[in-house]
Amino acid sequence: STDRLLGDAYFAQSRQLFERISRTIAGGESSYARLKKGLELCFDHGEGSHFWDIDGHEYIDYSLGYGPLIFGHKPKRVIQAVIEAIERYGTISTFPYELDAEVGELFTELVPGVDLLRFANSGTEATMAAARLARAYTGRPKIVQMEGAYHGWADTHLWSSHPDVWRPQLRPYSPRPIPGSRGIPEVYGEALLIAQYNDRESLERLFAEHGNEIAAVLVEPVQCNSGVILPEPGYLEFLREITRSYGALLIFDEVITGFRLAPGGAQERLGVIPDIATYAKALGAGFPIAAFGGSREVMQLEATNQVMHGGTYTANVVALAAARAVLTEMKTRRDELWAVLNGFGERVREGLREACEAAGLRCIVQGIGPVWHIFFAKPDAPALDRIRNYREAHAYTSIDIYDRFNRAMLRRGVYFHPYHLERWFISTAHSESDVQATLQAAHEAALEVAQ
Ligand code: PLP
Repeated sequence: STDRLLGDAYFAQSRQLFERISRTIAGGESSYARLKKGLELCFDHGEGSHFWDIDGHEYIDYSLGYGPLIFGHKPKRVIQAVIEAIERYGTISTFPYELDAEVGELFTELVPGVDLLRFANSGTEATMAAARLARAYTGRPKIVQMEGAYHGWADTHLWSSHPDVWRPQLRPYSPRPIPGSRGIPEVYGEALLIAQYNDRESLERLFAEHGNEIAAVLVEPVQCNSGVILPEPGYLEFLREITRSYGALLIFDEVITGFRLAPGGAQERLGVIPDIATYAKALGAGFPIAAFGGSREVMQLEATNQVMHGGTYTANVVALAAARAVLTEMKTRRDELWAVLNGFGERVREGLREACEAAGLRCIVQGIGPVWHIFFAKPDAPALDRIRNYREAHAYTSIDIYDRFNRAMLRRGVYFHPYHLERWFISTAHSESDVQATLQAAHEAALEVAQ
């Protein structure tokens, strides 16, 4: 299979390697949908804000390994810190050790709502642990999630992530649990309720009907898995209030927003403090680590081992040494780092809008600081000035124009995710010349697509 917009020759070497990989690795990759079918790009290496494929193309990277590479590829200080820690400790500590204390102290200092935390290995695990903790703390069975959100691939959470709610047989519809894969037992869906992000009424209705069954609302504070969708003014405060008034917990999935919107994540930048929050991605700057944490009172159930959480690899040396280096950077160079992330982020957003406007392409570019997305309008798209939820994202978006713009940018050396409901990330390694090259490419690409 070949990408119809690029043709056979573009990724000739990549396709060969991909075929070889596919002989032993199911589907040619070990994570669902990193690639878009036919777009068989194989990686050679990365450096700072750029990466190279094995066909020799160079790209400015706005995907950044799905987000972890907040300092870009091969962050020198983090890598050096990991090497030194391995030389000092080995790779697995088995026992509590000084790095636990060091990362714990930095973490709780930087994140306002976290008094106590636990380490995990992936965002999926951290979210599972947070949901279990909320159910244990409240003694209630159900978790509310938002349609279009993604909280990892666990049976308990991979529901209504990108449901095909547009099939005519599903109309009229209201958000409900729809499994995101074959093989997920229906019974897990019974422990979930699905609301629409930014839609107060949809949540009020769920609480009115199921108030004493709801353990928690689990939400990405900025919904970054349906493109990037910002909370409407007052929405996060509303979530805080309604959960509190029904005796439920508020869980922020900060796997994307954590250590990215600010050192203290969305809760610092947007000023609403949840009971529990989950972290991964930027926390390790490319090394695999995750965490969950929250108020002392809720985390007490972990502290006393009334709620089980564990793992052979949790808090391993590589993970904690990376996190210590990341958090130290963020603490000591906060202003400088976020000047780049926010400043270049805003410049690229503004430039994308201008490029599309100049070419007569209708689109919405929305995001915050270092994360954003571009939604291209279908010819018959509703007249929206912003996207507020998953269904609006879908009703508005032209996948065809997105694909064409994506490939036109890719051919000009700018890589962002080829799937139309992903997102752009920027790193502290991006430079003025990256921004200029990106915007030049965007002007050309938009004109090409508009033709
Ligand atoms: N939560 C959110 C918001 C995510 O975006 C992701 C991954 O993209 C996850 C959880 C799962 O994290 P991981 O891939 O580390 O398991």
